[in-house]
Amino acid sequence: MTEDFDLIIIGAGPAGLSAADAAAREGLNYLVIEKGTIANTIRAYPVGRTLFSTVNELEMREGTLKPVREKPTREELLSHYIHFVLDHDIRINTDEEVTDVTLKSGGFLVCTTRGEYQTARLLFAIGAMAHPRRLNIPGEDLPKVHHLFVEPYPYVRRDALVVGGGNSAAEAALFLSEEGARTTLAIWRDDWENRDPKAGAMKHWVRTPLEHEVTAGRLRVILYKEIVKITEREVTLLTDEDETLTIANDVVFVLIGSDADLGLLKKLGVKTESGKLTEVPVYDPDTFETNVSGLYVAGHFTHARHIKEAIAVPLRIVPLIAQSLRSRTRAAIHEPTLTSTKSN
Ligand SMILES: Cc1cc2nc3c(=O)[nH]c(=O)nc-3n(C[C@H](O)[C@H](O)[C@H](O)COP(=O)(O)OP(=O)(O)OC[C@H]3O[C@@H](n4cnc5c(N)ncnc54)[C@H](O)[C@@H]3O)c2cc1C
Repeated sequence: MTEDFDLIIIGAGPAGLSAADAAAREGLNYLVIEKGTIANTIRAYPVGRTLFSTVNELEMREGTLKPVREKPTREELLSHYIHFVLDHDIRINTDEEVTDVTLKSGGFLVCTTRGEYQTARLLFAIGAMAHPRRLNIPGEDLPKVHHLFVEPYPYVRRDALVVGGGNSAAEAALFLSEEGARTTLAIWRDDWENRDPKAGAMKHWVRTPLEHEVTAGRLRVILYKEIVKITEREVTLLTDEDETLTIANDVVFVLIGSDADLGLLKKLGVKTESGKLTEVPVYDPDTFETNVSGLYVAGHFTHARHIKEAIAVPLRIVPLIAQSLRSRTRAAIHEPTLTSTKSN
């Protein structure tokens, strides 16, 4: 039998967890469905990484995240979210992927890898990590090429190439270099010379140690135009000065961003638009409801991209969702009278 919910939340990242917390406080019959584990995206951060954000921007409840240093590590934050779920008995099905959603009268039918559920309201909190961007060049499918960086430890004294211009690429290059990989960072000149934090420049607390590695001769930075091909032992690239360079290589990390999977939303008829970095769903800025009635979005694949907003937005919108459900219930209570009047 299909279970019936007030609110189904897709994704157990900070946005999904915050929405679940708000739904529980509103007394809604809710369920979170997560294809991976609790806070899956944070689990995929590099081992030991320190967050950029401050405690108050990351914690689920004020004063509950207590890192050893000023900012938490990946492990401290992950543990914080896991214990939040345990302590508040948040209802989550992990290891279950939402594969299809269809419109039903008065709500949605949600199909997953494990079953089907009916829900009156649906919140997509799916993040923006579904599709890592690719270079689309020969050799990119070799097993030594990765689109995610988790740890430097297997690459000591190996020739490592990191491609990308953002903080993730810079951090990976730094961690690899610090742990004894012979590291090259291939970066576009515009990204390397960008010092404007508002325009996505590398954070200074990443750049400073990175430059230290360069000065110490442990890390090589190549300003490039194009990565041409990857082979078992080498990588060929075109430099910023149109020189073709072939370098020795054991491992490649392509860290050039990722995109959300908007497939289900589009199938349901949700409109999208071009955002600052990528395509985003169109939604009401006050309620985060899309053009499909009862379907909401929150978190990293909206304009509110960081963890701070991923937590704050659901706390604002879930009470509105609860209110809309209560008005619907009130209307339904009056409906039989109206129907019987009509039929008489
Ligand atoms: C390396 C790295 C470092 C970062 N550092 C910071 C930082 O210091 N500060 C900061 O504010 N932000 C940082 N970010 C961004 C931050 O991770 C995101 O803003 C945050 O995770 C957004 O939370 P979210 O809940 O919207 O999405 P996510 O945390 O991405 O959660 C979405 C969840 O949805 C699940 N999901 C997706 N599709 C389905 C489906 N079909 N069925 C079921 N489940 C599904 C995913 O598995 C995932 O667990 C960083 C990102 C990266 C990659």
